[in-house]
Amino acid sequence: MLELRPTCENCNKALPPNSDEAHICSYECTFCTACVEMLENVCPNCGGGFTPRPIRPATNWKGDNFLGKDPASTRVKHRPVDGEAHARFAVDLKLIPTNAR
Ligand SMILES: [Zn+2]
Ligand SMILES: [Zn+2]
Repeated sequence: MLELRPTCENCNKALPPNSDEAHICSYECTFCTACVEMLENVCPNCGGGFTPRPIRPATNWKGDNFLGKDPASTRVKHRPVDGEAHARFAVDLKLIPTNAR
């Protein structure tokens, strides 16, 4: 199940489960909109891209599939990114064709 992390990994901004600012990579690395832009949509941990994080319903619409039963994670992952090193990483990655990554 998707781990809804509580904050942006870079700037530690709060990203509640209903935030439309939360973005995740395929490994669930979680960043806010501003940081995703700063990172040029390249995850600093895996080099993959980001997608908006889906919102888990707060209401039990169907079959107990909601926040009340599956609450968001409270484990903060705060690992600020080294901007300069990341910029080099992002440039290098963009030189590699998409199908070879
Ligand atoms: Zn951020
Ligand atoms: Zn990642």
